[in-house]
Amino acid sequence: MKNKAFFFDRDGIVNKRIIDAYVTKPEEFILFDEIPKILKLIHSNSYKLILVTNQQGVGKKLMTLEDLNLVHNYMQDLLIEKCGIAFEEINFCTDLKETNSFRRKPNPGMILESAEKNNIDLKKSFIIGDSESDILAGKLAGVKTIYISSEPINTMPDYKLEDISKLYELIENLIKVNQ
Ligand SMILES: [Mg+2]
Repeated sequence: MKNKAFFFDRDGIVNKRIIDAYVTKPEEFILFDEIPKILKLIHSNSYKLILVTNQQGVGKKLMTLEDLNLVHNYMQDLLIEKCGIAFEEINFCTDLKETNSFRRKPNPGMILESAEKNNIDLKKSFIIGDSESDILAGKLAGVKTIYISSEPINTMPDYKLEDISKLYELIENLIKVNQ
């Protein structure tokens, strides 16, 4: 039997997005309060938790791969501390936007890669993101899409929330019907 998963975008979903800049060190990583409870809910329903994040700050040489790893180690430690679980896989893409890399969202490469590696049933999985590129990548990969933002986009997501406050409730309902 295949696994089901929730793919998470990072900046703007797991942690506060810094407008026009990158999270380059742990001090700049501000976890949203709602996230630990949400991860716990997903994990306790036997879904995989996978992070898929574009990090072209590395490609732009504004930060190093080591900086990125430090931020991710901090995130994982913080999650363990808050709810006892963390992401099972962190998939990131440091390629520049101009490269139009297949791995970089809005392309589906990272999602497809992680799905293959973790034996995931994409049709029964979801992506949660705050950018149109997350929704496009999700659609191209064949997962259901949850868009959390008050900004309008041209691509129609499967589910839309203005902000993260109702995400727990939405996921609870989605899990119930997604058998
Ligand atoms: Mg984002």
